[in-house]
Amino acid sequence: MGTQGIAAAEAKQQVEESLNMLTSTQIVVKEALAKLGYQEEMYELLKEPLRMLTVRIPVRMDDGHVEIFTGYRAQHNDAVGPTKGGVRFHPEVDENEVKALSMWMSLKCGIVDLPYGGGKGGIICDPRNMSLGELERLSRGYVRAISQIVGPTKDIPAPDVYTNSQIMAWMMDEYSRLREYDSPGFITGKPLVLGGSHGREKATAEGVVICIEEAAKKRGIEIKGARVVIQGFGNAGSFLAKFLHDAGAKVIGISDANGALHDPDGLDIDYLLDRRDSFGTVTNLFDHTITNQELLELDCDILVPAAISNQITVKNADNIKASIVVEAANGPTTFEATKILSERGILLVPDVLASSGGVTVSYFEWVQNNQGYYWSEEEVSEKLRKVIVKSFNNVYDTAVARKLNMRLAAYMVGVRKMSEASRFRGWV
Ligand code: NAD
Repeated sequence: MGTQGIAAAEAKQQVEESLNMLTSTQIVVKEALAKLGYQEEMYELLKEPLRMLTVRIPVRMDDGHVEIFTGYRAQHNDAVGPTKGGVRFHPEVDENEVKALSMWMSLKCGIVDLPYGGGKGGIICDPRNMSLGELERLSRGYVRAISQIVGPTKDIPAPDVYTNSQIMAWMMDEYSRLREYDSPGFITGKPLVLGGSHGREKATAEGVVICIEEAAKKRGIEIKGARVVIQGFGNAGSFLAKFLHDAGAKVIGISDANGALHDPDGLDIDYLLDRRDSFGTVTNLFDHTITNQELLELDCDILVPAAISNQITVKNADNIKASIVVEAANGPTTFEATKILSERGILLVPDVLASSGGVTVSYFEWVQNNQGYYWSEEEVSEKLRKVIVKSFNNVYDTAVARKLNMRLAAYMVGVRKMSEASRFRGWV
């Protein structure tokens, strides 16, 4: 097959994977609603976002030519309150993926009990090959394109894969210019000096660590000395590695898009953190690497996928050796693989619960912006811990009481609030 043939086959596989992501989410939402006793109408309302905007963004590139980028913004359900969710810059962003991610945001907000529905955005682009100037023009162009449907009381974006606080700052500035007043509450994940919250950057990882601690208690595993493997060394993965390493765990494997590092005696996390680039890449500095697939199958106690979706599938679920899998990434385990892991007695803490620390502190940031009064890092951490411990145990207890895997239990907890809000509003 020629290069063009390979690219076409990869694109086709990507479309199939994201469609699969959406349909598997719909299957679990349907099952959760049925278990809660809702009629089919509720499923019809919740199976797709209420709103889906596709935009085309012209950007003048540094060499003078204009490139047209495609972006999306999905708003799943705003019965509870404004929608909320990150914006992803990635070459493989597609419509079905954005829809599924917006549904997951609704579920997360329900699980941690925030006054929001779910939203999500994405732009098909490769920021690794773009200059800062091009990224700024793209970020501002995206905000202009979606400005009609977003805002502090409508839909509040945030960072996601390959977007960061600088991009949030440009987006906030563009929105404030359009509206002609300062609007820090339009977006979260901003730099501290622009109304960001203490603890936002490490919030996802902090939430994942709290879930790992709670799951480890249930399985009688001590964090000190536990062997941990983390896929991804970006915002989520790198903080996670640092926290677990500092807590005495042995981080024996980490990875990035280019490959993975493994040391059964524990990796030097501080050194790797020091050397990684702003895209979370570090393995290119080493000769002895293994593949991401080999990394996932390493012998360990706790496995944390913290990179991209569809990593644990029917092909490798039988080879996973961890006794706890905690999903920091969105959608790393397929629907079929979830069943295999559960049948094998592996405790799977699902993405919609495990990675909800980010949106929880985003909510804290928005509250602080709205009241114009800011909290200390300790206050943020303390509030976050309370929310995550309560949510973890709520989902775990539901799973035990109903004899379900934690993903289905989390979906039941997650859909309940938006379903009730939709019912009270008279939508269904
Ligand atoms: P990031 O862009 O900072 O880092 C992504 C990491 O994944 C990098 O190390 C990159 O090299 C690696 N990666 C990219 N493609 C890969 C591939 N094909 N195989 C293996 N590794 C690959 O992103 P992040 O913010 O750390 O997010 C990671 C995951 O966590 C995503 O699924 C995201 O949706 C989820 N998440 C992030 C947040 C947050 O606040 N950052 C919140 C909730 C969920």
